[in-house]
Amino acid sequence: MGKRSDILLLYTGGTIGMIKDFKTGALRAFDFDKLVSRIPELSHLDCNIKTVSFDEPIDSSNMNPEHWGKIAQTIEEHYDNFDGFVVLHGSDTMSYTGAALSFMLENLSKPVILTGSQLPIGDLRTDAKENLITSIQIAALQDGGKPVLSEVCLYFEYKLYRANRTTKINAEHFEAFASLNYPPLAESGVHLKVNREYLLSPNRRKKLKVHKELDNNIAVIRLFPGFSNAVLKAVFETPGLRAVVLETYGAGNAPTDEEFSEVLQSAIRNEIFVVNVTQCSGGSVLMGKYETSTHLQELGLINGKDITTEAALAKLMYLLGNKISRKAFRTVFETPLRGEMN
Ligand code: ASP
Repeated sequence: MGKRSDILLLYTGGTIGMIKDFKTGALRAFDFDKLVSRIPELSHLDCNIKTVSFDEPIDSSNMNPEHWGKIAQTIEEHYDNFDGFVVLHGSDTMSYTGAALSFMLENLSKPVILTGSQLPIGDLRTDAKENLITSIQIAALQDGGKPVLSEVCLYFEYKLYRANRTTKINAEHFEAFASLNYPPLAESGVHLKVNREYLLSPNRRKKLKVHKELDNNIAVIRLFPGFSNAVLKAVFETPGLRAVVLETYGAGNAPTDEEFSEVLQSAIRNEIFVVNVTQCSGGSVLMGKYETSTHLQELGLINGKDITTEAALAKLMYLLGNKISRKAFRTVFETPLRGEMN
């Protein structure tokens, strides 16, 4: 029998640990120690669990790159002493955090699993216990003394996903996330089934490198029929703006009127990177497939392929923060770095 895994559980906030404010009835984050005492099952797991918490747990709508830095730093500080990490996080922005951490943690060779719940842990019908317990079990999985997973994942409602492939799709159902462009890494039924062919393989000889410098001078623009070119222009004229995720239609298509192209052209001339990402939840950008995307290719938009908007934003913040040269930027963006695109 191998050694018991050591798991670090980091509580950042989110519904999982919330209680109802008795005056207003609104859910707010509460003390983490109380959370752990509500799950006696944790002591039955075949691993050692240490818990740490944000000083002030937050609703994930308040998450920002500084918090991502704190999560990454906690993992960095404890990296050598633990076999796996479980991050409890609100579901609202969990996909963004998961995508960001995937880029921030270069050469990761241990699992980092984000999870949370739709109902607080104290609720009779809660989904929190299954999510938490299975996440810890997955983080503790070993094979020949090495962790089975070595990437940033998101576990919710019986499925483990690559975090940077996910999107929150439902505010009501327990099945709150989807990963339409990449299959689940593991599924929890009577047995825990890991789909090994879909996992990233780590390079264990390289040391973990944590990148905390992120540049958030970026924006998302989602097209819709009737979108005003004046608004487009105004966004591109934002002082300091460095990159835009342009959410286009279908396989990466957009209007072909001259004014639209001119606005994009002048933005690109002003050294703003524009990434073409489809606003469809699944599928890929294929610039040049339709006449309505050939102009985007000619203008020099970066091909977002099948990346999610969440991962595109995180990748931009990471690449801009790491001062990738203008020349190499497109090539690096269009290359999968953490399995975030095909
Ligand atoms: N508003 C909550 C949050 O994201 C929702 C959740 O935890 O699921 O923090």
